[in-house]
Amino acid sequence: METRHLPIASRIIPLALPKGTEKLCELCQNRAYLQCAQCRVTFYCDATHQFADWVGIHEKICPLLVPIRTETLESFSKEGRIEKDIKKRELIAIARSIAEGKLTEGKHEEALPAGQTCLHFCMDVFGPCSIQLVPAYLLLAEGYMGLGNISSAAELLSQAELSVSKNPDCGHDLHHRLHRSLGRLQSIMGDLEGALFNYANDIYHAAEVYGLDSTVCSNGYFLLANIFAKQGKTQIVRSMYNEVAQTWNSHLTKLIEPFLENPTASLEPTFDKAKQVEVDKILHTILDFERHQSRKEHALMALASLCLSMLWFMGGDRVKARDFGRSALQSSQMSPNQELSTAVQKLLDLVETRPQTSEAKRSK
Ligand SMILES: [Zn+2]
Ligand SMILES: [Zn+2]
Repeated sequence: METRHLPIASRIIPLALPKGTEKLCELCQNRAYLQCAQCRVTFYCDATHQFADWVGIHEKICPLLVPIRTETLESFSKEGRIEKDIKKRELIAIARSIAEGKLTEGKHEEALPAGQTCLHFCMDVFGPCSIQLVPAYLLLAEGYMGLGNISSAAELLSQAELSVSKNPDCGHDLHHRLHRSLGRLQSIMGDLEGALFNYANDIYHAAEVYGLDSTVCSNGYFLLANIFAKQGKTQIVRSMYNEVAQTWNSHLTKLIEPFLENPTASLEPTFDKAKQVEVDKILHTILDFERHQSRKEHALMALASLCLSMLWFMGGDRVKARDFGRSALQSSQMSPNQELSTAVQKLLDLVETRPQTSEAKRSK
């Protein structure tokens, strides 16, 4: 278990502050009574908010805030201001990537302080109405949706939507992200038609940036298919899940190829744990959907199992790789697709022949 070392907070002595400089809590903007004893430029209303901020982001940015928040004679010069601006932009990038990482890991609560820091510095650098605020709105909205706080998510998304509608040339990537978040919100709220509309737009814009055969697009198809599944449209769902599995198949096959040529090649981590969990979930959803159909499409089941086998091979779990490989083989034998059976057999041979030691160093 990881231990967190929280720095000691010291009490703010109000009389020591110049008039009109009352400090506000980093998280809730209420009056602050504590300050981070390490950087001394970050303030909190209470220890709970200090802890939440520390775990969420402050631990990683505490020393970086000192030059940004300390006012010296130099920081008022033109060079000083430019330097601060660069540091703030760096901090925005750090906060964004921390928030994204936490969201992928499903740590929604912990993603909020990083999202807020990102938003706060974006407002500072780009102004309160800038289109540059949209990624931060979306990160925060995703965090709130994960926590079931729908009204906060909806509020942030409508701000993002307004901003994008005023800046329609903001680029396909931003449109794609906005539509994906809106689709998620509507799906949670039970507005299936609204979700379908947004996911379709999401895929259109994602295809412009990443290409139709990208995993980003395929994740959009997956979300779209899940809505059709809620509407009971089995045939559409099946054909979309097929697309999704095909995309992951070609993506994972490319990763596996070097090992088919050299089974002892060293295995470098290609997916982080969070990504692995996400892909695993997608493929399991497809497999479960097919298992519940009265007339099963064995080729799709074989394909999803094959993908899972490759995914776990890349993740260094040989037992899971072998088990999914075997069920892929079983399913593929019930379908007329010879190519698929060959691919499964090749992978199973690889899993069986690969020396055990190759994975040992990755287990952590
Ligand atoms: Zn607070
Ligand atoms: Zn600090």
